[in-house]
Amino acid sequence: MTRLGSWIETFPEGIYVRPADAWVDPSRPKPRALITHGHGDHARGGHGAVLATPETLAIMALRYGEQNGQPVGYGEAVRVGEVDVSFVPAGHVLGSAQIVLEHAGEKIVVSGDYKRREDPTCHPFVPVPCDVFITEATFGLPVFRHPETSGEIDRLLHRLHSDDSRCVLVGAYALGKAQRVIAELRRRGHEEPIYIHGALEKMCALYEDHGIPLGELRLATGASKDELRGKIVIAPPGALNDRWSRRLPDPVTAMASGWMRIRQRARHANVELPLVISDHADWDELTCTIRELEPTEVWITHGREEALKHWCLTHQIKACELNLVGYEDEED
Ligand SMILES: [Zn+2]
Ligand SMILES: [Zn+2]
Repeated sequence: MTRLGSWIETFPEGIYVRPADAWVDPSRPKPRALITHGHGDHARGGHGAVLATPETLAIMALRYGEQNGQPVGYGEAVRVGEVDVSFVPAGHVLGSAQIVLEHAGEKIVVSGDYKRREDPTCHPFVPVPCDVFITEATFGLPVFRHPETSGEIDRLLHRLHSDDSRCVLVGAYALGKAQRVIAELRRRGHEEPIYIHGALEKMCALYEDHGIPLGELRLATGASKDELRGKIVIAPPGALNDRWSRRLPDPVTAMASGWMRIRQRARHANVELPLVISDHADWDELTCTIRELEPTEVWITHGREEALKHWCLTHQIKACELNLVGYEDEED
């Protein structure tokens, strides 16, 4: 009997699907790429041809210019070489997909990055039972258990309302996290205008164009100190401690990231209000997903591979590490 998934080859720069002559999320330019989602460590410019969801293609066009793209909507199936390929929601960011590959009677799911909890800005993860589940393990340690998002948003609002002479400056990655924080704030009843850094403007507009309402957004640049008192300002993490933030009225510095679970990280970034809001699966989500899918094998792409591999082995699931390079997941 041949090895399961023998038609897939893994290289440090990505996953090569031989009978499709295509790469999944390659870190170097390739003639044909299947892209799970728009984050920079998965979607890079310069490929010959790109298959991705229409949302991911729009995000790539915004970041890298127009791609030679073939849009594949959720649930649509396309034939690439000798492989049936479909894109299924991953629940990570707008347009994010798991890529389902079927060939030689085997079904292999490349999940990209994913999470299982609710997110008002993207379609929820759809579980696809499969022979091989290729998963990330960014938060693949039992210490990583993300709290309820609503509780983190309430802490943010509580802090905002406790001193209306200050503003709360929230660091959030430009693709996904920033829009999710805004949408979660709206959901918790915060209807005030939210001020954004200029670097977030186009991505927020792209989300709105794809039917994700974000309420009234204003550019923070140009707003007076008085106007910003008692307001929420959202900026990319890099802007939290740089000159840009000096224009703000005595900001309470917050950061929305799964990494905020680690106290030293928050302290290192001078974050006064760490918000544990992640777009990646935590330990329970990773292990529950594997339990639910019951794959014969689990292949782990990046993150804390060791602990998840060990968990799989103790649950009688064959597991291995792929040792791919270039996936940062600092974006969370
Ligand atoms: Zn990602
Ligand atoms: Zn990633």
